[in-house]
Amino acid sequence: MATVTDERLEQFLTQCGMAWSVIPWERHVSVSNEWETLYGNVHHWLRQKQGAKAQFEYAHQSAETFMIVPFLGNDGGPQSITKHGPRTAAYECHGDGTLPDLSAFANTDFFIVPTDLNLTMVHTHEDYGWGGPYFIYIQGLAGTADEEASVVDCFHGRTSTVYSGYRRGVLRERTERQPGMLTRCHICGLDVGEAPWGESGRYPTWSICPCCGCEFGYEDCRASGVVFQRRRWMESGGQWWKPSEKLAGWDFEEQVKHIPTDIPPGIDRDVDGF
Ligand SMILES: [Zn+2]
Repeated sequence: MATVTDERLEQFLTQCGMAWSVIPWERHVSVSNEWETLYGNVHHWLRQKQGAKAQFEYAHQSAETFMIVPFLGNDGGPQSITKHGPRTAAYECHGDGTLPDLSAFANTDFFIVPTDLNLTMVHTHEDYGWGGPYFIYIQGLAGTADEEASVVDCFHGRTSTVYSGYRRGVLRERTERQPGMLTRCHICGLDVGEAPWGESGRYPTWSICPCCGCEFGYEDCRASGVVFQRRRWMESGGQWWKPSEKLAGWDFEEQVKHIPTDIPPGIDRDVDGF
């Protein structure tokens, strides 16, 4: 998936005295997934600030390096942000520690995180309408106060310490919820080796299933798309999009049995039956 740069945002960052750079697409995806693992489950948001209180709290933070990351899935923290068309690029910024007020760019639907991931600010186009912006410290998540652990810093590959008892708990919960099915393509049932919409099922990987050819996050962003793509693939008799990756002894009937009955929660439910 291609992203588009935001010239207005770039100019604003420059005016604020920031050195900024566009984050490559793969990194945009990996940072989004890491954020989602930590902050994605809004049921764990216990002590967040909202609206003007969020702005106030955010304005009193300091971080020399931080990222501005447009959401890739259909959720922007607590808000639904279903978008069609290309997403805005993510930016890494270096400054004197002051975090710029980015509320004028809320329509982009993004989060801000410093390198240690210890807090986040969420802006969406619903700011001050349906709620938001939102600010939360990682310690404000359920189950994080009593336990520290190391996680890999998603910016520089460094290891940083955050309160992540929450994180491990969530991973366990997610694995138990759908054992063995997490890595199956929900269109055709092929084991693609990673969860097509991430561990939480809310942030697509944008990779392409070699069997049915679905790009996760694109053709399947709506339930009607899942139904359509699955029917197309079934009617083709299980044709491989990438025949060179077809497994030896592969059997259409056998794979069909493994098509997950659930579709990832991040997919827009626009038809009945999901
Ligand atoms: Zn597939």
